[in-house]
Amino acid sequence: MQTAMDDDLMDDTDEPAFTPVKDAFRPAYALSADSAGPQCSASTDFCLFCEFANDGIVSEMKTLVHTLAADGKELPVITEALRRAYEDGVREETEWSPPGCPPVHAPEWTTASIRRHLLYSTEFSELFDVAIVQMFHSIIERQNASMIDSSTNMVVEEHRAAFTDTVKTFIKFKAHQDAIAKRRGGSKRG
Ligand SMILES: [Zn+2]
Repeated sequence: MQTAMDDDLMDDTDEPAFTPVKDAFRPAYALSADSAGPQCSASTDFCLFCEFANDGIVSEMKTLVHTLAADGKELPVITEALRRAYEDGVREETEWSPPGCPPVHAPEWTTASIRRHLLYSTEFSELFDVAIVQMFHSIIERQNASMIDSSTNMVVEEHRAAFTDTVKTFIKFKAHQDAIAKRRGGSKRG
């Protein structure tokens, strides 16, 4: 006969156990070539900035990125400017030799590949910083949108706590950015 204690034990054993599964997780940034990651080295796509030395037209296109970033242009705008600059004259002159494959004339430099390099190469870290500021803006705006309980007009405490936590972290991030800009002798941004 089952007792109440037996029932409790049964309930405990009914709890789904966490079983680690192979490949359930992956690195945020792959350090070996055989694992997936967001960066150029983990992709088989053509990337102009990875393939060619930093001189001539490549150097000019990198200067274009820094200039547009300094003007506060957003990532999609800079990505599109690079894509157009590549298509307008550079692509036709480009020969690519992917490892183990025949050479490719005028390879496409896709928007995804350009964005991947801009964000993950660390050459243009200012772009990632701007993207983080935009993420904070977006999160703060959404947290604001759900701050008040419509039926009671009361502040939802859980949402307020999450909001102030976001703002605190954002202030720390901005202070860090300003300290870096000051050390470099640059101006404040954001
Ligand atoms: Zn690249």
